[in-house]
Amino acid sequence: MKEIKQKIEALREELRQHNYNYYILDEATISDYEFDIKLKELQALEDAHLEFFDANSPSQRVGGAVTKNFKTTVHDLRMYSLDNSYSKEDLLDWETRVKKMVDGDVSYTCELKYDGASISLTYENGKLLRAVTRGDGVQGDEVTANIKTINTVPLQLKGDFPKRFDIRGEIVLPIEGFLKMNEARIENEEEPYKNPRNTASGSLKLQDSAEVAKRPLECLLYSIVGNNLNIESQFDGLEKARAWGFKVPQEAKLVHSIDEVLEYINYWDEHRFNLPFEIDGVVVKVNNLHQQDELGFTSKAPRWAMAYKFKAEQVSTRLNEITYQVGRTGAITPVANLEPVQLAGTIVKRASLHNADQIEKLDIREGDEVFVEKGGEIIPKIIAVDLTKRPVDSVPTQYTTHCPECNTELVRLEGEAKHYCPNYMACPPQVIGRIQHYISRKAMDIDGLGGETVALLVKEGLINNYSDLYELTVEQVIPLERMAEKSAVNLVNGIEASKKIQFERVLFALGIRYVGETVAKKLAKHYKSIDALMFASLLDLVTVDEIGERIAQSVVEFFNSEENKQIIERLKSFGVQLEISAEQLVGQTDKLKGQTFVVSGVFETISRNELKKLIEDNGGKVSSSISSKTTYLVAGEKMGPSKRTKAEKLNIPILTEAAFLDNLK
Ligand code: AMP
Ligand code: ZN
Repeated sequence: MKEIKQKIEALREELRQHNYNYYILDEATISDYEFDIKLKELQALEDAHLEFFDANSPSQRVGGAVTKNFKTTVHDLRMYSLDNSYSKEDLLDWETRVKKMVDGDVSYTCELKYDGASISLTYENGKLLRAVTRGDGVQGDEVTANIKTINTVPLQLKGDFPKRFDIRGEIVLPIEGFLKMNEARIENEEEPYKNPRNTASGSLKLQDSAEVAKRPLECLLYSIVGNNLNIESQFDGLEKARAWGFKVPQEAKLVHSIDEVLEYINYWDEHRFNLPFEIDGVVVKVNNLHQQDELGFTSKAPRWAMAYKFKAEQVSTRLNEITYQVGRTGAITPVANLEPVQLAGTIVKRASLHNADQIEKLDIREGDEVFVEKGGEIIPKIIAVDLTKRPVDSVPTQYTTHCPECNTELVRLEGEAKHYCPNYMACPPQVIGRIQHYISRKAMDIDGLGGETVALLVKEGLINNYSDLYELTVEQVIPLERMAEKSAVNLVNGIEASKKIQFERVLFALGIRYVGETVAKKLAKHYKSIDALMFASLLDLVTVDEIGERIAQSVVEFFNSEENKQIIERLKSFGVQLEISAEQLVGQTDKLKGQTFVVSGVFETISRNELKKLIEDNGGKVSSSISSKTTYLVAGEKMGPSKRTKAEKLNIPILTEAAFLDNLK
């Protein structure tokens, strides 16, 4: 027993150190794979020995806890706001006020003003006790389960830390991670997130912490508060926090005059776009904590700190031409082609115009001088027209009526903001786009075939839809530009190999509008074969969990098309997986059909995820919260008392693990 405890603790310590190396120091010393192996080993030991459970174990980062209502919590020490300044004069005035109130020289810590959601973390004996949002400054929401999933938040501190303290920081979503999340959403035809800040703050209030764990959030720390902390100055505090394992950006700088503060501001106003995360300004703090004490607070902000806010960068340039892009689903997006101009660290040539209504609302016309802004949004947008510069012969924009690629008349469905090209079968970007989607990584993942080659194959008349891929021969492909024999062979082999891809991914690959990865999984699971899905009526489809009318309509339309039916027949004849394979069906029954389960607590012979899968494999549904629709609550050890009370109140039978497994037999 003692050895096991030691083993668990050693693994936790080791993983903590690797986590720190990777996320804080940015210097990994083992591979992701090795890390995963060690983590799995720890999880297995912890699952087998619940007596050694630790809420701050590195294994807890994957999330899983679901919070319905976040508890309102009063901050031990109030979270103040900051006073803002927008000019050099504002800052000089502030310096004068400071110097009047304190004796001696004044030094300043300059920090970046991270643009995210503020958070207060409480640590006791080196362990994360709770995490609370700023709220109104006096009280906020406790979001500990979500915050624990963020890798830059240490769950266990290192070194010589005070017994209890609060540390404040900002939860941000670095730009690269934000763009990746949006790529995935666009691929699934979901509305992309607007900007990193809103996405970060929205993440804190997600109910399912496992969802939060999937987002590449970071926590950047900037201030320690508490009593008897043995900290001399703001800068000293930052360095100590770093030593205890927190992520404190290295850009923070100690300076000794307001001129140096201004230099810092100018530098970052220009270089902020090279940072991996967004900032909206700089925060200047009087460094010495005794001086801070003397200065104190106004009713809303410290007198010893001042934020300097950058202006959202804006330029004016000429709009040369409005063109229209056609997506793989036929959706038309108007694009502003601009006279190239320097903005926010990059050269901007294009801006999105969204749709016809947007153009009309701002009365944007070709030849106009327009104001372009890159604020929180990554893609620049036109915010206004400079009417004083409008040419005399300017005419209002007539939104295009025909497809720029195939000249078919566009349609606009009721309630939709976008126009569509209805030439599904022959509009080149749609034809090419669908095949490109089919071969993409998350769909059929065809090795040796890229998007450009697809376009070439279509242009050469070698393929017209994705089923044609399976008839391509090496001889046909070799004459294509830049195609050596070896790559031609790889291409054909890659296509052949895709015949093994599972049905749910094939279904996603077909590119049915609104059928993203998750929906495809649901449909594959429910219908089990393309034939069953093809026969499903609208009414039948909407009874499937999470399938709404919009999706159902689109599925029915897809299979109503003769062309699509033929394509599917051909895919079938080539041996593409159009039903769930026998292997996948093993262990699948309808025994629990129509029943909804809530699973809670820790189990003995099976992990919670295995239990959930067992329910789903047998036709049951797993839900995260108890309601009158719940059939059974499956209760393990350590189940929260509120779940039990709720189940009893609603008269929902509670099953033990053993009883559940018995029933299933
Ligand atoms: P405001 O929301 O404009 O009142 O600005 C105050 C907020 O700025 C604080 O609540 C923090 O969340 C945020 N902030 C970002 N970076 C810093 C920093 N380096 N120091 C202090 N506050 C910061
Ligand atoms: Zn078209």
